[in-house]
Amino acid sequence: MKFRAELEVLKPYNPPWMSREAAVDRGSDTYVKLTANELSFGPLPEAEVAVQEAMPRLNRYPDRHAAALREAVAAANPGCTPANILVGNGSSEVLLNLLQLTERPGEVVFPWPSFTLYAAIASVLGLEAKKVSLSPDHYVDLDAMLSAITPQTRAVVLCNPNNPTGTHLKLDEVRSFAEALPEDVLLVLDEAYYEFVSDPAYAGSHELALGSGNVAAVRTFSKVHGLAGLRVGYGIAPAEITDYFERVRFPFSVNLAAQVAATASMQASEQISKRAAFVMEERERLQRAFEEAGLGYVPSQTNFVLVEVGADVFERGGVLVREGEALGYPGWSRVTVGDTSENNRVISAIS
Ligand SMILES: *Cc1c(COP(=O)(O)O)cnc(C)c1O
Repeated sequence: MKFRAELEVLKPYNPPWMSREAAVDRGSDTYVKLTANELSFGPLPEAEVAVQEAMPRLNRYPDRHAAALREAVAAANPGCTPANILVGNGSSEVLLNLLQLTERPGEVVFPWPSFTLYAAIASVLGLEAKKVSLSPDHYVDLDAMLSAITPQTRAVVLCNPNNPTGTHLKLDEVRSFAEALPEDVLLVLDEAYYEFVSDPAYAGSHELALGSGNVAAVRTFSKVHGLAGLRVGYGIAPAEITDYFERVRFPFSVNLAAQVAATASMQASEQISKRAAFVMEERERLQRAFEEAGLGYVPSQTNFVLVEVGADVFERGGVLVREGEALGYPGWSRVTVGDTSENNRVISAIS
């Protein structure tokens, strides 16, 4: 058969230690897995109970509107109503559905290095991917991003904080950028690590989104909520974007277990904040250890740290990390902040 030419670049990425990562997922403890920025703890007990209670109803389709989940997300973000809430099968799907709303042909502008999914989605949708280099200190360069906008630009994706660098933009900077952007360009803020940011000048993008016509903030249950296996993410956007978003979203894209678990987890905000606080403390401990070992690293506002040493060093110490080669940082490693004993292993590996 004749395949679309855009798909040629989309070969699946196979990490070098894929089989070892799979072994850890099956329960082996030869290695600890700090490759994918997952939380090292299981879901909150509230989320587990909600899934168990939902089990006898698995013969039924889930609520196609995910109304309870959207209410819970709206309640956690002052000023939002359920009409402002996007949901999807992971925030990956929320990103896909958002970019499906834009006109084609056209281009999507995003920073680089950043999350590789943006380029993949662009290719799948037949949009051009336009990558804008980070500044020398590994921050998203908003002036360069603005200069990259052309009449062909349909959307800009800002990964904030940025994966794989862990660097963030303050809300004021994002707001000025949004105001400078043409109104017909969609601005997507990918905030997968929102809960781990300690800078008080960061939070509040939902207000920016609500007051705009073209800004959507996207977040996930895969990181601090510890629900990566259930696949559920959400977004906050003006009601008109939600309206169009619902036209392209598959009716039952968020399954029943995911809906009830995510709702319960969102409502347990105190426990979630505690987990985030633990990760932030452990992140500081890892960064101090990197410093003491004389390794360069990028100060992080996420649950991972990009450090200037090869992944093989960690591998020898029984720790699997994401090798920088795959992320645009050859010779570096991206290390997920794990639990106390996992982080101890990281520190032993470099000491
Ligand atoms: C982990 C991550 C996500 C989350 O993806 P899900 O589909 O919600 O699991 C989104 N964006 C970035 C930048 C990430 O690192």
